[in-house]
Amino acid sequence: MTVVTRFAPSLTGRLHRGHALAALTAAETARTAGGRFLLRIEDIDAERCRPEFEAGIFEDLAWLGLEWEQPVRRQSEHHADYAAALERLRDRGLVYRCFKTRKALLDDIGRAPHGLGAAYVGAPLEPDDEARRLTAGKAFAWRLSLSAARTALGADWDALSFVEQGAGPNGEQGAIAAAPAAAGDVILARKGLGVAYHLAVVVDDALQGVTCVTRGWDLFEATPVQRLLQVLLDLPAPTYRHHRLVLGADGKRLAKRDRAETLAALRERGVTAAAVRAALGFG
Ligand code: GLU
Repeated sequence: MTVVTRFAPSLTGRLHRGHALAALTAAETARTAGGRFLLRIEDIDAERCRPEFEAGIFEDLAWLGLEWEQPVRRQSEHHADYAAALERLRDRGLVYRCFKTRKALLDDIGRAPHGLGAAYVGAPLEPDDEARRLTAGKAFAWRLSLSAARTALGADWDALSFVEQGAGPNGEQGAIAAAPAAAGDVILARKGLGVAYHLAVVVDDALQGVTCVTRGWDLFEATPVQRLLQVLLDLPAPTYRHHRLVLGADGKRLAKRDRAETLAALRERGVTAAAVRAALGFG
């Protein structure tokens, strides 16, 4: 089987060394296996994403010496794919509308860009109540119902697992039990804001034929719920290769706010791509 990997940056800022490690891990995993390396632009969150970052991302990756297949998949061009997946889950009664206020929803998104963090567990409203809110035009999010998913899976619920080919933050390797309960009833889509992270990633990885998902430890916790979605949507199971996070001088994970650490800033200061690669273990 041909190994297919991807680097999937969000269009929320310029790339820094953490992204470089993620991109290099994906590209090298494909290269050493004689496989394919894909690039995906994650730009579904219209409130946080800015298209002007795309050209900079291409520039930074090319500077690092990476080549990727064309065409690049842009999530914003594939809303129909995500809507179809949501529809399948709806048909099976696996999602429900949650009417937390738009502000509360946006706060959630701001605090936890990948839908991680707040383990919310709710339930569908009574049909009358729901109808009244819909008629009043109230905003809502579609949430995955863990209790409905558990019922749908039956004995397979406890067998949910994924294969870790790298290592998790606590050294997890090999076949790992996936316990999606920790994530709560994650948001899969928001009225007016479109699909959310977990659903888009799962649909894209399947449509792009990704066989090995490489990404940082910050998304290790996302894997159990994404495995659950793959099973519920009858999608193939990729393997996973999680990698360490790159820390700044303050010992904290690099974030978009660390402007001085962007690859563009390093380049301007005369740091070479070879030096960045070597420092990340890709000499
Ligand atoms: N777009 C996500 C990020 O920039 C990565 C998605 C993934 O690798 O699953 O953190």
